[in-house]
Amino acid sequence: MQPHLFTPGPVTIPHRIRQRGAEPLISHRREPFFSLLEEISARLKRLLRTKEPPVLFPGSGTGALEALASNLIAPGDRVISFSCGAFGDRFREIAARRGADIIPADIPWGRGVTADDVKDGLFRCPDPAAVLLTHNETSTGAVTSLGECIAALHPDGPLVLVDAVSSLGAIPCFPEEWGIDGLASCSQKGLLTPPGIAVAALSPRGWARANSFSCPSYYFDLPMHRRFLEKDRPQNPYTPPVTLLYSLDEALRFLEDFGFGEWFRMKARTAGTFGTACEAMGLSLYVKDPTFRSPAVTAVKVPGGKGKEMKRALEALGVDAAAGQGKEPSLLRVAHYSPGGWAELSLIAGSIYGAGKKCGLNLRPDFLETAWNRWTKEGE
Ligand SMILES: *Cc1c(COP(=O)(O)O)cnc(C)c1O
Repeated sequence: MQPHLFTPGPVTIPHRIRQRGAEPLISHRREPFFSLLEEISARLKRLLRTKEPPVLFPGSGTGALEALASNLIAPGDRVISFSCGAFGDRFREIAARRGADIIPADIPWGRGVTADDVKDGLFRCPDPAAVLLTHNETSTGAVTSLGECIAALHPDGPLVLVDAVSSLGAIPCFPEEWGIDGLASCSQKGLLTPPGIAVAALSPRGWARANSFSCPSYYFDLPMHRRFLEKDRPQNPYTPPVTLLYSLDEALRFLEDFGFGEWFRMKARTAGTFGTACEAMGLSLYVKDPTFRSPAVTAVKVPGGKGKEMKRALEALGVDAAAGQGKEPSLLRVAHYSPGGWAELSLIAGSIYGAGKKCGLNLRPDFLETAWNRWTKEGE
């Protein structure tokens, strides 16, 4: 039996997306590959509402973060790194290894970054070369209002580098409107595609910065990627993950057919209803302030520090969720990327109830009705 994936990547994806990836291989140095790349690029630009072409290359989200650090940060640059969880810490580490002079701004876990946090950071370091932000902190289920945070910076101020690995596709993310200079993401979360494609999107200012020095990495050299995209027909400087690109194309068609805006609302409704189900059971959510609760991932506190036990009990029921990360091992994290709607919601909520009983938790039974009431009310 195939376990149902509620992990924050990879996720359970529609059959048509996986099936598309099984189509015969084509050469990446001729048509129809060039058209495929063009089509994907156009759809991604509509999703992101940008004019600049995003760069797609083999890798995961971490690879995309590495590409941002290699192309937009030079050794010795002063960089304020805002972090409210394990992935903010990872982005910081990547920038530090690139030689950045890191000014850490540690935000308490369980909420997102605010404009006030950004102002505090600038007070400590008034003229940084760059700031690092995480759109959706997957380790805690907290989302950051990037537009508000970036508005606290001077428009000609630091470069804004964003980890949008777990938000792109599931949460509105508009780099050009908000002023993001470098955005990193990947295929296996909100983009409903198998793992293996990294995504980087730069602003004109980001490209100017990347062009101003030579990238220490050949593989992640974004200006080189851009030169290949701008040949008479777009292509990659080296072998791209062709079959994954088929799937990504299909996934973007799926999302666009659904309607990007409608899809974002569906994610918020799903996460909201899941939170209601957990609370009705007697479990509490890690992110207390609802305005910071992520539409993509929910972290649930498991009483008695039984996060790992719950994860294993769920596995025994054919369901995969994630345990806590870093300094919060007692969480259970559930992602809301896949399109299953109420059927999936009742599956995960019901499974958590069953697994919780198995782990000796004292849970209340009428959560499904409470959740169903909220689900139907929001659908009106
Ligand atoms: C998953 C994730 C990453 C790491 O992505 P990989 O694809 O596992 O390399 C980085 N940042 C965030 C916010 C994530 O959710």
